[in-house]
Parts: sequence; C-alpha cells; structure tokens
Amino acid sequence: MIITVLGSGSNGGVPQWDCCCPSCTRAREDLRLRRTRSSVAVSIDGGQHLLIDATPDLKQQLEAVGLVPRQEKAEFDRQSRIDAVLLTHGHGDHCVGIAEFSTGKIFGIPVFGPPDLITFLFGDSEKSMFFRDIGRLARNYVVPHRLAEGERLEFLDGLNVIGFEIDHTDRMEDGSCFPSSTFGYEMEVEGRRFIYTPDLGRLTDSLLKRVEGADLFMLDATFWWNDELTRMSGLRKTSYDLGHVPVEDSVKILEGMDIGKVLYTHLNHTNPLLDPNKPMASIVRDAGFEIALDGMIIDL
Ligand SMILES: [Zn+2]
Ligand SMILES: [Zn+2]
Ligand SMILES: [Zn+2]
Repeated sequence: MIITVLGSGSNGGVPQWDCCCPSCTRAREDLRLRRTRSSVAVSIDGGQHLLIDATPDLKQQLEAVGLVPRQEKAEFDRQSRIDAVLLTHGHGDHCVGIAEFSTGKIFGIPVFGPPDLITFLFGDSEKSMFFRDIGRLARNYVVPHRLAEGERLEFLDGLNVIGFEIDHTDRMEDGSCFPSSTFGYEMEVEGRRFIYTPDLGRLTDSLLKRVEGADLFMLDATFWWNDELTRMSGLRKTSYDLGHVPVEDSVKILEGMDIGKVLYTHLNHTNPLLDPNKPMASIVRDAGFEIALDGMIIDL
C-alpha cells in the first residue's frame, strides 16, 4: 500500500490567509513549511488511487505530487487517476474539493461517506443539496453513496476499506451531529493495515483496540495543548471542546502501543510542533512518532 500525504494542515492550512503569527510568517518565507488541508491518496501500485477527503486545495495537491493524467492512458486527453473518494465528515476543509470533479468528462467517481454526511452534501430523493445541484456535478460527475458503519468495500483490486464512527463534530440535543457524523477509515492490503483519523475528538477504547497492531496510524494533531487557543488568542474553547484530542495527551496514550508507525497530521497554525526545534517536537520524536508533511510518501 502506498500512501501519499496530499496535505497535513488543519482548516485554514499554514499559513492562514489572514494571519501573521510566527508560524504563518515562517511558512510564507519558506515554502517547505507550508501545509495544505489534510488529505491522503492511497494506492497499491502508484497507478489508480483512492482519495480520502477532498479539500479546498485538491487541485494544487494533485499537481504537487504528480497525481495527474497519463497521456498513454488518456482518452481525448482526459484520465482520472482517482477511482473513488471517501469523506470523513462535513467540515469544509474535508469536503468542498468535491466541486473540483465538475470539469470535462463524466467519470462517475463514487463518493462514500457517513449516511448523514452524504445527505448533508447531496440531499436525498425529495430534496437535493448544494453538491447535487452544482454545475455538472448534477450530471453524475460524482456518484454519492451512503456508507454504513462497518460495511466492507474493495477498491483497486485488493484494497479493503471500512469506515467506523469516531467523535469529532458537535453533538446536537436530538442526538445528531452537526454538520455530520465523522468516520475514520481502516484500509488493508495483504494484511498491512492503515488507519486514518485526521479529525479525532477522543481516543476511545474501541479505537485503541483497532489501532493495536496496525502498520500505520495517522491521527489528529490540530493542537498540542488542550488550552492552546486560550494561550494563543484568548478564545475560551479547549481542544476537546472543538473535537480534537490534544497531542500532549495522545502521545502519552499511544506511547508503548504496538503500532508500526504513528504519524501526526492536521496541524493547526498554533501548534508548537510546527517548529522542529521546540521541545514538543522532541517529545514526539522520543516516543518514536513522526509528523506528516505535505508530499510525504509512505510505502507500507
Ligand atoms: Zn479538519
Ligand atoms: Zn498563523
Ligand atoms: Zn473537522
């Protein structure tokens, strides 16, 4: 299994368009420090890919890693290297890139996600929603599918996938999640397992059981501290309030577990991990864990 990190930033990426904090300023000066919104592409042989999340940066991300049409396989100069899209949840940084698939050719790319997310984005037989109506997407440029928790899918001749519900988005009084519930995805090829949870509110017992023995676990590194936004901007919301387990906690929970590689992604511009010289980066490295970068390729 080949995993390409298309993006490793949180909502807004690094730099954020309206921010001149030290991290955003450094990323403006040094292109290598820039992070687009979090997404990965998964492949078996580097040819066709499964895309997890479609970010506002999708087009630039595909170009940056060379995930572009191949002339010898193209028909009238068109080829999709993406066989299917899996969406984690309805926050804009994970799904608005779907609009990118409304260009020249009807590929009918299947888009899977939690049932309430698919309804939120595409509507239902009674009432259509924004993505169902937007330009050519309305004409089957993508084909939405409601994915049940635990339902097994197979892509690319041997890539097995299941989605499972995790805590992240706001829980409403009626029990629903706003704007949708959130799935993590587990992928497996020939016994090699990869689990992806870029936005994750809690490391529950069932999730810890799932990641035990996995070859790669990529998870939420939006904030280092639980009170990071209070420290940085005076906002009275904690990391847990916003549906993100702080890295300071997850490092301690995951340390010593049997996981091939722990890779942190979805970093916010406030996260001190953005500076490799800060002691927090040493804590992550000393635990044997790594921090994702845009363009990183992991061959499992
Ligand atoms: Zn996010
Ligand atoms: Zn900033
Ligand atoms: Zn989110």
